[in-house]
This record gives sequence, C-alpha cells and structure tokens, in this order.
Amino acid sequence: MFAEVIVDIKNSEVDKVFDYLVPQTAVVGQRVLVPFGPRKIEGYIVKLKEKSDVAVDKIKSIISLLDDEPLILPEMLLLSDFMIKKNHLKRVDTLRLFLPSGIRQEKIKPLLKEYVFVKDFNKDEVLTKIRKNSFNQLKLLEFVEPQKEYEKSELNKMFGASAVEKFVQMGIFLKDVERKLRTPDVKQKDDKVVVLNEAQKQILEKIKEPKVHLIFGVTGSGKTEIYMHSIKRCLNEGKTAIMLVPEIGLTPQVSALFKARFGGIVAILHSGLSMGERYDEWQRIRSGDAKIVVGARSAIFAPLKNIGIIIIDEEHDGSYKSDSNPRFYTHDIAEFRAKYNNCPLVLGSATPSIDSYYKAKTGEYELHELLVRANQKEMPKVQIVDMKQELLAGNSSMFSRQLQSDLAQCINSKNQSMLFCNRRGFASYMVCKQCGWTAKCEDCDATLVYHKEDNLLKCHFCNRRYKAITNCPNCGSNYIKMGTIGTQKVAEELKKMFPNVKVLRMDFDTTSKKSAHAEILEEFSKTKPCILVGTQMIAKGHDFPNVTLVGIIEADMSMHYSDFRSSERTFQLLTQVAGRAGRADKTGKIVLQTYMPHNYVYRYMANYDYKSFFEKEINVREVSKFPPFAYIVRVLISGENLANVQLVTANIHTDLKNIYEKNQEILFCQAMKSPVSKIQNKHRYQIILRLSQKGFTNLIDLVYNSCEVNSKQGVSVFVEINPNNMS
Ligand code: ADP
Ligand code: ZN
Ligand code: ZN
Repeated sequence: MFAEVIVDIKNSEVDKVFDYLVPQTAVVGQRVLVPFGPRKIEGYIVKLKEKSDVAVDKIKSIISLLDDEPLILPEMLLLSDFMIKKNHLKRVDTLRLFLPSGIRQEKIKPLLKEYVFVKDFNKDEVLTKIRKNSFNQLKLLEFVEPQKEYEKSELNKMFGASAVEKFVQMGIFLKDVERKLRTPDVKQKDDKVVVLNEAQKQILEKIKEPKVHLIFGVTGSGKTEIYMHSIKRCLNEGKTAIMLVPEIGLTPQVSALFKARFGGIVAILHSGLSMGERYDEWQRIRSGDAKIVVGARSAIFAPLKNIGIIIIDEEHDGSYKSDSNPRFYTHDIAEFRAKYNNCPLVLGSATPSIDSYYKAKTGEYELHELLVRANQKEMPKVQIVDMKQELLAGNSSMFSRQLQSDLAQCINSKNQSMLFCNRRGFASYMVCKQCGWTAKCEDCDATLVYHKEDNLLKCHFCNRRYKAITNCPNCGSNYIKMGTIGTQKVAEELKKMFPNVKVLRMDFDTTSKKSAHAEILEEFSKTKPCILVGTQMIAKGHDFPNVTLVGIIEADMSMHYSDFRSSERTFQLLTQVAGRAGRADKTGKIVLQTYMPHNYVYRYMANYDYKSFFEKEINVREVSKFPPFAYIVRVLISGENLANVQLVTANIHTDLKNIYEKNQEILFCQAMKSPVSKIQNKHRYQIILRLSQKGFTNLIDLVYNSCEVNSKQGVSVFVEINPNNMS
C-alpha cells in the first residue's frame, strides 16, 4: 500500500505530500519515520492509496510507524484542509497546532513509575540465600510483606538499589511499571450545588440544538452555571465537551470550578503548562480518560472524539484571534468542529463582539439573553468623574477626590478594591519638556517605558532594556518628565496614601513566574482590606466577594488606539472591569475617571446599556463601511533590508491598485509604513484594503496570489483579515 506523507520540516518548499510505501497496518493520521534525502525525518500519513503515480523504482519505503494509534484524528485532517483554504496556512503548520510540541521529535517521553510486587515467600528459605552481613537485604526482608506493592524508588532510597535488584533476581519481587501523569496544579475548591432559575433553564433547553448560540448575559447572570449544566448533560449522553476561556489569568478559577464539579475527567490546556504537563494532558484527552477540556485558544484543537458541546466564554475577547503565524480565528475552528460533530457551539459574553451580536440579530446565530444577575442584585453603580474638573479644582494627582474618599471608606469597612490601569510600568514615557524628545527603542519604532524597580527603560515590543536618563540626549536639558501613569506608579502612590494597607500589583512584570498569577490572586482573596492594582489581567473572570470598589484610573487609554474597534474594546474592557465589584451580598461601586466624560462609550457603559451602544456602533460601521459591513485586509510586509521591503510593498501595491481602479468592490487601497515601523530591526510596511462583503471571496484570492508572486527572500508577507491589532 502507498501513503501520502507530509514531512515535518519548516520550509515552504516541502509543504507538500510525498508518496511512500507503507505496511498494510498503516492508518491515516499515523506518525511515521521516513527517509528524506540523506535524512530521516518524521511525517504524518494524510492519505492511503492502492496506487501511486511515482515510478516503482523511485518510491521509498517508510522506515517505521511511530505510534500504535494515529496521532491525528480524521476530523483534524479535514480541519487542516479547511484551515489551509480559509487562512492560507501551510499544512505542516496546521498539523503542528494539533500536536503538543513535546510529542514531535519525541522531546518529551511519558513519565514512568516503577513498582515491585512482592510474591509469597518463605522467610527461612530466603535467609539461606542472603549473606549474613548484607544488612540492607536483611532489613528489606524484614520490611516487605507478601502480596503488597511498593514503589521501587522508595525501596531504593531506604535499602539501596542493589538490595532491591537482588530481590528481583531471586524472583521475590515482580517489577511493574505504571505511567505517572504530570498534571497541572489546580487550586482546591468546594463545589456548591446550584439549582438553575427559570431563565437559565430555558436557555439550557434551547442550546441543545446543533447550531451557533450566543448567550448575552450580564456579568454574574449565571452563564457559567448554564455551561456546566449543559456539559453535564453531554456527559450523560456519553459525549465530551470543550470549554474555552480567554487567558491564563482566567483559568485558575475556572479550572478549579470545573475540577471541583467534574473531577479527574477534566483536562486543562493553556500556555502556562510545562511541556510535560501539556503532553500528559493531551494523552489523557486522546485516550479518552479526559472528557472535558478547559483551556485557552489552543484547546480548540484538543483531540476529543464525539464532542457534544463547544463553549467559548467571553467570546468577544481578543485572544481568540491568533495574530501570529499560524493565524486563525478560534470561532471559525469551533464552528467547523461543531458542524463535524453535529453539536451546538455556544458563545457567551456580557459584551458580545459587534460581529457576533450582529450575526445574532440577523438570524445567523440564535440569541439568548440573561438580563439580571443570578442573585437578583443590581449592577454596581458607575460614577463618571471628569478629571479636567479635578485639575481646575487644584487636584493634580492621579486619584480624583471621589476615588480617594471611596478608597478610604472601602478600607475602613475592611473591604477590598481593585484599581485598573491599562498600562504597566511606572510612567509610560520619558519626555524632554524643553525640546519634546522621547526615548525610543533603537530596534523597534516604539516609545520606551520606564520601569522604576530596576530603573530601566524597557521596550514592550522586544523587551530590550536601556539605562534611564537624567539629561536629554537631544538638547542637554534636565527637564526630563515622566509621561502618563502606569500600574507601578499607581501602586506606589497608594502605598504613600495608605501606608498600612496591603497593595498588590498584577501585570506582565509581576507575573512572569509560572505560578505568580495564582499566588497574587490567592493573597488578594485572603487579605482584608487590600487593594489590587492591575492591567487588563484583573478585568476578567475573577470572582471576589469582598470587592466593593473598582477604580478605573484613566479610562481613555484604550480609546486612543487608531483602530476601528477602539470604542468596542473600551466598552468591553470597562464593563468587564466594572463586573468585578459587588458580586456577592455587598454592594459595589465603580469610579470611572476620564477626560472625556460625555463620550457615548462611557455614557452607555455607565448604564450597562450594551444594546444602545451596539445600535450606535453598528450605525457608525454601516455608514463608514467597516466590519461587519466590509472586510479590512492588511498585508504586512516586513524584513531587515529596507529596500527589499519597500520593493515588495510597491509591487504588491501596484497589482492591487490596478484591481482597485477597475473593481468597485475594493473600497480602499493604500500602502504605508506601519504605525510601528520597526520591530526587532525588521522594517514594517503595510497595505490596507477594504473589501466589500460581496467582492471578498474573489478578491481575497487575488490578494494572496499577488503576495505569493511578489514574495522575495528575506521579506515576510502576511495577510490579515479584520486584524485585532493594526500597530
Ligand atoms: P457569569 O458566568 O454569567 O458571570 P456565574 O455562572 O459565574 O455568572 O454566576 C455568578 C454567581 O451566581 C456564581 O457565584 C454562581 O454560583 C451564582 N449562581 C449562578 N446561577 C445561580 C442560581 N440559579 N442560583 C443561585 N446562584 C447562582
Ligand atoms: Zn524594541
Ligand atoms: Zn531635550
């Protein structure tokens, strides 16, 4: 028999299948070792066939089949086809997404634990075989009991490996090997029994139907309970489930919740796992031992069979879009798998993405609403504070008088508060007041951020560090000013204001260690009063009953991105942050500080009026022809050699410009430097297109085609559709 094999090498030229001769036992999806030129490399069987077009004397045999069972399910091979078509990915890149890196090239092996089983033995008879002075063997003989099992390494430790080995040789010990699993740490949590209310029950019933559902439910309305009940239902039917959550920051609590309710059949997959943990969790899923997968984006590729439901919680979250190679959108993959398994896909959010809500309004998705919190409590009140007025009143600190007094009150009543600041570090920029010079990274075209703890300027794109300066390198003046506020600065000011109160900080810098997230959250949950300062990491999912105050230091920060989604993002982010307050029986409050108090985003947000916000926003998009009424396509061209990058850009642009002039369905076409024109010494140019709904399918192929024919060694060209990030 012959097999088409895709070889696992990262090289575009070899992203095609080669024919090999295989034994009859081979199966599709199986991993194989094949001769490739002078080398032996791994590959995967993507197809089996009786005949090959390759001449018989040219065709080689595979060297060996590497696993007993195929690593890639038939479903995933079809998914690979789908992704290749949809996202123009290389086949080998899609296959890599499906397998934990530890499996490929056997970087990780199963962890084995050895046991010895003690057979019935006659002590006196054994004594005749042991020398009188071998104390270890004598002690071992005293220690072990027949018909019992001991861990071999433990016995080795106590009596020495040679004594144990001697007992094996004498036939008293039988060796036994068992796989030991590396499992991710999950916090212990007690489960509580929840009886669904009427609204929840109705939704639970409706989401049985195999289609795409959108649950629009305010924070705390009981969406998670619906998810868990529907998963329970799937298990009862002998099916499996995937539950996706945005980021690692969210997973500790969600993982604990799911483990508490469903126990050992839950597998956890997220980027914070070690290679070994990932490998073992993956194997548990593949073998069928794990039936529920909880995880971040990549968990959508979990090798589950017979899926009964796929859930994407916080479906609007940006992390569901993979922005770097291989690019994909989790919702597309989820929809594919849901169709294949004929099961429902459930999206949930308190602030659905404009795209998803639009699809729900137009009937493509089925919409379900939960308009009140499960505990009937009102949403916390949002007070908008105008920071311009604060300045006029002589308060130049980053805390408004309102926030200061609310903080003091929160502390006095021994409660907790969370302060949100969407920028890490101490003070964003170093600016010269005299000449306007700002410190920038030499490799990237990015403003450096000052980090006080190590008195360094850091580039948030490439992590390069620079010494902080006291004099302006441009004009020599010493009027160096710190720009806007970062998390570190907020924490420091708080410590001055409330020296006796514990202040915790959670951002990229304080969470570089693997367990740091969980530790900070754990400490916060145990400390009263306490203030937690953080970036958007604190916005999501956390459920702390004693948080009564949430402060938003500078709401406007995320409004300034020059991106058509910045209003949507800001609305979502602030609603998420606000949802952290007053979750249990205590009343919560939000103080939102802004320099634009009349902006519609804040007004609707303060009333938790997503629907009005949606109406306003969808109108803007329709009039200006932005998604979901058109597609934005960015072609990003980057490379170290500026001239080459410019040349490729110009060539593609000329192609597209020609089409643009003849085709009404291209609404916009322009080439330019990227807003961040250099990252890690690579120059970045972009061509931005806007394609009409109607023309998209045909035109996008022309775009890909032009990128392909104009490509050049050393220049990478990426096509992004409705990108998350336009920097
Ligand atoms: P969401 O996912 O919408 O934010 P959750 O499902 O986490 O909401 O529910 C918020 C809180 O309300 C949780 O503490 C949860 O245990 C509780 N809860 C949810 N549904 C019910 C219910 N029917 N009865 C009582 N408590 C509930
Ligand atoms: Zn840099
Ligand atoms: Zn200067």
